Amino acid sequence: MTKQVALGSLLIGGNAPVSVQTMYDVPLSDLEPKFASRMEVLKAMGCDVMRISYPDIKEHDQLARAVKECPMPVVADIHFDYRNALDAIKCGVAGLRINPGNIGDRWKTEEVVKAAKDNGLAIRIGLNSGSLPANTKKVSVPKLMTDTALEYISWFENLDFYNTVVSLKASDPDQTFEAYKHFASVSDYPLHLGVTEAGGTVTSCVRTTWTLGRLLEKGIGSTLRYSITGSIEDEVAAGVELLRTLGLRKGGVRIVSCPMCGRKSFDSQSFLAKVQSRLLACKKDICVAIMGCQVNGPGEAKGADIAICGIGKKVFIYKKGEIFCEVGVEEAEDRLFKLIENL
Ligand code: SF4
Repeated sequence: MTKQVALGSLLIGGNAPVSVQTMYDVPLSDLEPKFASRMEVLKAMGCDVMRISYPDIKEHDQLARAVKECPMPVVADIHFDYRNALDAIKCGVAGLRINPGNIGDRWKTEEVVKAAKDNGLAIRIGLNSGSLPANTKKVSVPKLMTDTALEYISWFENLDFYNTVVSLKASDPDQTFEAYKHFASVSDYPLHLGVTEAGGTVTSCVRTTWTLGRLLEKGIGSTLRYSITGSIEDEVAAGVELLRTLGLRKGGVRIVSCPMCGRKSFDSQSFLAKVQSRLLACKKDICVAIMGCQVNGPGEAKGADIAICGIGKKVFIYKKGEIFCEVGVEEAEDRLFKLIENL
């Protein structure tokens, strides 16, 4: 079992459940007016940690506002300038993500570690295969990543700082897998899992699931992120789905939807896109099916608690396999959620 780290009120590692992270996709200079409500939805969907890039202390007020409004612990992502890390601490973040290799002189990283210790923060040492020190000993990339992380950990431990999480990301899934596996065999610090620069939704989900699924099955990994060139809502949905598929997270709506075929008479794809976030934010432990026709839909959705089967402009809503009501397409979303509420 790994050490346990406290990121604000969230525990990472040890016997804590595996947590899901994402990274805010808007520059702080354009912090959304509806930031708080978007974060509430992401939290309800199962997001546990929000990382926010903090490239410029001119955005101090925006970061402070984000921290105040975010219902999850915020981790400031720091590149190059250690003073941004010191300032982020003043904004109230729960953690920092740094790569000491791009912070510069060792004393700068040490200043950050001391300030994090004084303020009870966690630090993630975030290594990427693209920003490693020179490979003078000509070792494999996974070994170089592990050795580099252990070197930085020794700097932290010299300052009596142990609230550390490590990530070893590469865009190559094999290298990522091997790096995490190797690190876990020599250290008990908790790991944040991810495949970096993994591509769009399809490529990222395939690469990340293949890599992280195998690690998690071996008991490696305490927290994770899907990096998707796409929405952060999808990143959270993918992370939660992986944990649920592996039996590492319970509860919530299990969505079943048909792949659609020539028999479809209802645009189940658009309907699912519209309702997915709301369904994933629901805590009820139920199965909801969205089916594209009324010919095979009800049969294929037999096991679902609620099923929606469209036919032209009409939608039939089934409850436990029996027709519950028939509504127009435009009413279907409202009726679906009312039914879920009352289930
Ligand atoms: S539910 Fe209907 S549209 Fe969807 S795959 Fe089955 S037969 Fe095709």
